[in-house]
Amino acid sequence: MGNAGDRLTAQVNTRMAPAVQADQEMTPSMVLALPARAQMSPFADGCRAAALDFVNRVSVRADKHTLAQWLRGPYCRHVVALSPMRTRKVDSSGLLRGALERLMVNARQQVSEAILAARDPSDGVAFGYSALAAGHVYRSRDVDGLEGWVPVSHPRMRLVDRVLSLVAADYLFRSDDYENALFACVRCENLVFDASRAEGRVCAAHQSDVRELVQGAVADPERAIA
Ligand SMILES: [Zn+2]
Repeated sequence: MGNAGDRLTAQVNTRMAPAVQADQEMTPSMVLALPARAQMSPFADGCRAAALDFVNRVSVRADKHTLAQWLRGPYCRHVVALSPMRTRKVDSSGLLRGALERLMVNARQQVSEAILAARDPSDGVAFGYSALAAGHVYRSRDVDGLEGWVPVSHPRMRLVDRVLSLVAADYLFRSDDYENALFACVRCENLVFDASRAEGRVCAAHQSDVRELVQGAVADPERAIA
């Protein structure tokens, strides 16, 4: 009888387990759908492109209209809002020019450092898990059932954390690219993913500059030595 009761309890417990998990789905273990029925790989591409656009263009311009466009466009298309998105909170129109420039210089520096640090596998894992622990990325599944990660937007998130949530979703999906293909161009300082140029650390846009220098050196070796 006791054994049967234990077995019954065990069965009940087993049956209860999914329900308990369902309850826990209100915590960071919940799986979210991607925005706009996207597929995981192009979505991760979009997260990466939006983050690089911030570092390489938006933060350099330090212009409130460029920032607002980025937040409403590339950023918003790649995040899920768990509470209603209040665009006013991320609107930069109230910022004075000098304050905006300082904010953008700091954001560019912090985001660049975090992205480049993720090239180291152990630092990268720490980066990914800190974004997870902070609730800035959640597990996700696309329309085809492929699992990955989706950035989550919170009303009071810092700008740096918004950009890094895009990076984290991409990093957790394919960290190898960070180790093998990511570099800061030595000519323009842009962050670039390009495995074929990672060793020389010169982006495609500046590859021709280098070629001209080399060709100039071949045409006139003395000048090159001087
Ligand atoms: Zn370059």
